[in-house]
Amino acid sequence: MKKEDCIFCKLSNGEIPTNALYEDDIVKVIFDLNPASKGHVLIIPKNHFDDIYSMDNATAAHVFQTAVKVSKAMKEALNCDGLNIVQNNGEAAGQTVFHFHMHIIPRYEGDTVNIKWIPGKAEAEEITELKEKIAQFM
Ligand code: AMP
Ligand code: ZN
Repeated sequence: MKKEDCIFCKLSNGEIPTNALYEDDIVKVIFDLNPASKGHVLIIPKNHFDDIYSMDNATAAHVFQTAVKVSKAMKEALNCDGLNIVQNNGEAAGQTVFHFHMHIIPRYEGDTVNIKWIPGKAEAEEITELKEKIAQFM
């Protein structure tokens, strides 16, 4: 389940060598080439999934378990003040590499990382409408 010419397939399966933080049968955790902060890593499944929509439950569960493992270690080792988990799907959401990956971004008071949005408003009717629309596919 690898994809031809996919950089993350090559990195996660060792075709391109990398100094991985962690590896098991299902995932590889690598340091981001252009880190947002000190310790920014990517959790990459070894099988190819373009994005979250094509991912199976077992892999998804393992990715998140790995996120917990890495986050706890980051907190101990780097003494970071916070930590963001970011996972982009689709160009509109900022995805640039189309092999599923999860960002773990340690945060430090006063750092330059910017993960913010303008808080909006949602009316009760709109929430009910959204619930009916989305829940039917779950
Ligand atoms: P995204 O925008 O969520 O698709 O994130 C892609 C991430 O992959 C970016 O943070 C890049 O810096 C990172 N990246 C791209 N190529 C490599 C590479 N060869 N090794 C490590 N990280 C990479
Ligand atoms: Zn891939």
